[in-house]
Amino acid sequence: MDRRTAIRCAGVGLGALLAHGCAPTRRLDRFDAVRRLSPVRASWDRVIRTTVGLRPYRPSGFRLDAERLGAKMLIHNFGHGGSGMSLSWGTGRMAAELALERPERDAAVIGAGVVGLTTARQLQRRGFDVTIYAADVPPNTTSNMSLASWTPTSGLIDGERRTPAWDFQFRSAARFAYHELQLLVGRGYGVSWMDGYALRFSPPSVEVDARQDALLPDELRTGATTFGPGEHPFPTPFAVRRPSLRIEPSIYLDRLVRDVREAGAAIVIRRFASRSGLATLPEPIVVNCSGLGARTLVGDAELTPLKGQLTLLMPQEEVDYSTFGSAVQGGDGFVHMSPRRDGIALGGTSVEGDWSLEPDEEARRRIVEAHIDLFARMG
Ligand SMILES: Cc1cc2nc3c(=O)[nH]c(=O)nc-3n(C[C@H](O)[C@H](O)[C@H](O)COP(=O)(O)OP(=O)(O)OC[C@H]3O[C@@H](n4cnc5c(N)ncnc54)[C@H](O)[C@@H]3O)c2cc1C
Repeated sequence: MDRRTAIRCAGVGLGALLAHGCAPTRRLDRFDAVRRLSPVRASWDRVIRTTVGLRPYRPSGFRLDAERLGAKMLIHNFGHGGSGMSLSWGTGRMAAELALERPERDAAVIGAGVVGLTTARQLQRRGFDVTIYAADVPPNTTSNMSLASWTPTSGLIDGERRTPAWDFQFRSAARFAYHELQLLVGRGYGVSWMDGYALRFSPPSVEVDARQDALLPDELRTGATTFGPGEHPFPTPFAVRRPSLRIEPSIYLDRLVRDVREAGAAIVIRRFASRSGLATLPEPIVVNCSGLGARTLVGDAELTPLKGQLTLLMPQEEVDYSTFGSAVQGGDGFVHMSPRRDGIALGGTSVEGDWSLEPDEEARRRIVEAHIDLFARMG
């Protein structure tokens, strides 16, 4: 099956595969590609830490616009939910283009998470002198607690609240970001392509997949290959493989900090209580990339946390794929595994409105046990 055929067959159920002449082949190259996968050595004695982060969710989607703050221009770039690691280069570029409308070339960026750092780089590329002001810097930001796969629509917007104008902003941001992240692959940023396997008890449905991803432009989706019973090593009847970009947050954020500094930015540790504090800054342009902090900083009552936690196992260099889903039908809820150099990240939580930074023990058990079971049964 050539790549185009594989793409055409992506997301098509087994019956439909046969009917459309896309029957799963037993050609060695296709089969070997999955047979070589090394199982994760999932066990409680390999757990090394559990981290918690609060995704900055806005039901009406991220905020990307400008307003006046006295004589200053205040640009907002926050509220990326579970998609900030994916989208930040794009919204950062659009924020920097808003700043170009002013004649001055000095800008303050509030926040040193992924959104603040990439926005600072986009401003620098356009000739701005940038100072970053942040209460916390990596490794102590929400961005460091991220799984950081290419998930540009995850926990991003309540579908009922979408507007054509916001969709246009989103699609522009996603296109820019997808392109930018690809250019960082293989350059020491911790950005790489990796095969992900969605584990399924039934074949994927074209209609459901299309509906879920309706926001995302087609060209930002890689092709998927569906493996049926006996064709893959996982204990579920079906596995759908899709290559995807992924980011290792600790490497990536440190590189971004280094880049903004090398391009001349100072990073000042400072917490602002309200927008009147921003008005005292010397820079005529202020870009607000404060994530969930914008709730109090600029009074954005819509912002709410989507609490997420990851449990890390000892690293395993030979594990070079990710998984989504458990081996128990309807039993474990959604779980996922993604390997990186600092450990194998296991996750699967998103609790709206929970501000606690303490790990949830029940969720930790559920997620670790689901992966112990999954990899014990991997062929
Ligand atoms: C478990 C988990 C998994 C995730 N998985 C993914 C994924 O797979 N893909 C993806 O794209 N995204 C994912 N995300 C979401 C992603 O991490 C966030 O969207 C992103 O980190 C938000 O970045 P940010 O820069 O806006 O916020 P932050 O990283 O929180 O940075 C905010 C910055 O603003 C500063 N700040 C805040 N308030 C103030 C103030 N008053 N004064 C001064 N400074 C202030 C902070 O100190 C910090 O420097 C995940 C998140 C979690 C928790």
